[in-house]
Amino acid sequence: MTTPVYLDHAATTPVRPEVLDAMLPYLGLSAFGNPSSAHRFGRAARAGLEQARKEVALAVGAEPNQVVFTSGGTEADNLAIVGSALAAREKGQPMRVLTTAVEHKAVLAAAHHVVKLGGEEEILGVGPDGLVEVDEFVAALHRLPAVASVMWANNETGVRQPIDRLAEASCGAGVPFHSDAVQAFGKFPISLATTSCTLLTLSGHKIGAPKGIGALVVRDRKAVEAIIHGGGQQFGIRPGTENVAGAVALGRAATLAAAEVATESARLADLRDRLATGLRAAVSDLVIHGERAARAPHVLNVGVPGAEAEAMLMHLDLAGVAASGGSACTTGSVEPSHVLVAMGVDRALALGSVRFSLGHETTEADVARLVAVFPGVVTKVRQLTATLGRG
Ligand code: PLP
Repeated sequence: MTTPVYLDHAATTPVRPEVLDAMLPYLGLSAFGNPSSAHRFGRAARAGLEQARKEVALAVGAEPNQVVFTSGGTEADNLAIVGSALAAREKGQPMRVLTTAVEHKAVLAAAHHVVKLGGEEEILGVGPDGLVEVDEFVAALHRLPAVASVMWANNETGVRQPIDRLAEASCGAGVPFHSDAVQAFGKFPISLATTSCTLLTLSGHKIGAPKGIGALVVRDRKAVEAIIHGGGQQFGIRPGTENVAGAVALGRAATLAAAEVATESARLADLRDRLATGLRAAVSDLVIHGERAARAPHVLNVGVPGAEAEAMLMHLDLAGVAASGGSACTTGSVEPSHVLVAMGVDRALALGSVRFSLGHETTEADVARLVAVFPGVVTKVRQLTATLGRG
């Protein structure tokens, strides 16, 4: 049997060997200490942790003391949204969250939580290309939210929002700006040195570090309150004994991602475009979601009229190709993707859409394999869908 092709890097990536090498000493005898301990074991762990903070900071154009390690992107998003709302309440201001309909559930659910806490949410829609309307965003800033949160690149479609303009407008209005950069960092150049984001979310397992480590870059500590409570670690913003090995892994992965981003971005865009051309040649009525917008180069989300995504994914898997429908977190649910629905894609097409996402290990041969098996899968699934009277 030939090796399966993994085209689900937006869901997660394998740990890179360099990253594993870097983190292992922090799990073993030499540097396993608690970074808050004053003895040599603790100091060794602390040194690794602080080096990791420097590496993450350098990779995104921030300062080391602005990097707060978290258990991943979800926690970082929650800290940004709920933490900003709590900080506003502390100042006697309304807990109002401004965000968009295409955000990851980690942001949308955190905004709903703020509502449960007595706050408010304003969710901006997007156009058919998946883009937020800048004027609408600017108008919403006048209602002085506690935080404005817009993702840098969408995890389902790859669509890139005009973050520089949104962040600048937000900054000008005195509103803290948060961006979830989980699918942007390492895929195209981003830097806080040139963008006025107050808060930035990163996740390790999308860039070759293990699952369970991420970071929130906090450029203004007054902008967020802790959402969990305990010791004084990480400036009191995120208490709890730090995941040192994870932080070291994130530091190494971030350094590699930043060093490789220019070449990797071009390489992935080329592979993505070949894939799009190949799939469209095989299925002439294929719809590429967000096609006209600037997109992160690793994601291709395609809608196949008359075919169900769940069946396509199953047949692709049988043919040796792993992909996903929308975001992994909603796999198993029959609801159409909230991102595609927000873009105005009709329900049937949204339910017939699959996401291919490329990564560091993806090769031309992987793309060619998918292009080769795709027509057969679509024909089979269309017949099946028609037989069942759906589609
Ligand atoms: N934000 C985006 C855009 C994502 O794609 C993901 C993961 O799919 C997350 C947040 C959540 O990150 P984590 O899996 O590290 O909690």
